[in-house]
Amino acid sequence: MELRVLSLYPEQMNIYADRGNIVFLQRRCEWRGIGFSHAGAGPGDAVDPGAHDLFYIGGGQDRDQRMVAADMVASKRESLVGAVDDGAALLAVCGGYQLLGNSYQLGEEVLPGLGLAELETVREPGARLIGNVAIEVDLGGGPNLLAGFENHGGRTYLGAGAQPLGRVLEGHGNNGRDGFEGVRRDNLIGTYLHGPLLPKNAWLADHLIAQALERRYGTRPQLEPLDDAFEDAAHAGARAAAGA
Ligand code: GLN
Repeated sequence: MELRVLSLYPEQMNIYADRGNIVFLQRRCEWRGIGFSHAGAGPGDAVDPGAHDLFYIGGGQDRDQRMVAADMVASKRESLVGAVDDGAALLAVCGGYQLLGNSYQLGEEVLPGLGLAELETVREPGARLIGNVAIEVDLGGGPNLLAGFENHGGRTYLGAGAQPLGRVLEGHGNNGRDGFEGVRRDNLIGTYLHGPLLPKNAWLADHLIAQALERRYGTRPQLEPLDDAFEDAAHAGARAAAGA
């Protein structure tokens, strides 16, 4: 078995440990004897929706998002919609999460989004939403906790038909008001929790690995348990920092 990962705009959308999230996926595969391949798709590159099973879009400043938004819609939207509809896993973090929606409005300017999730992001006046965060999520296996860090000026509002990733226990979440964090549909996840999201939440990394392998090989693999002493400590530390 091989996990096939594609990072979208790895040069432009990579603030806050995005490369580390990929390395973490790689290690968890290698430790179990599962193959791993990683490729990047930058400006103008076409995406083959069948060649990869886990797509990743990292964080980016407004200026990075300006550079990639139109290109992403023109060169990759159709393939990504096809891949997600076909069960591929997609994880989008912070700036990448904002670009999953219909639009990101910055004053007079409106950046287009992929339209993969029913949400809008608006750069409103007011302080950035920064700090440690903990959210409760249920991806089908019962309640679980994601702990991490958020830092965003944009506020994201989910449409009526959109499902949040989780409920905010501590922190701001999508907009600091409605108590929701992130979005999910099929095997797509968007979240503001950046920094080393996967190393701090190893269960989510394994969830993504299993989904991606299931898409390729037809059955959900039973992933071998690993010695997660460091990962458990990182999770406990992030959780404590958030006060959850
Ligand atoms: N540029 C976006 C914002 O500030 C996202 C920032 C980020 O990825 N940390 O809202």
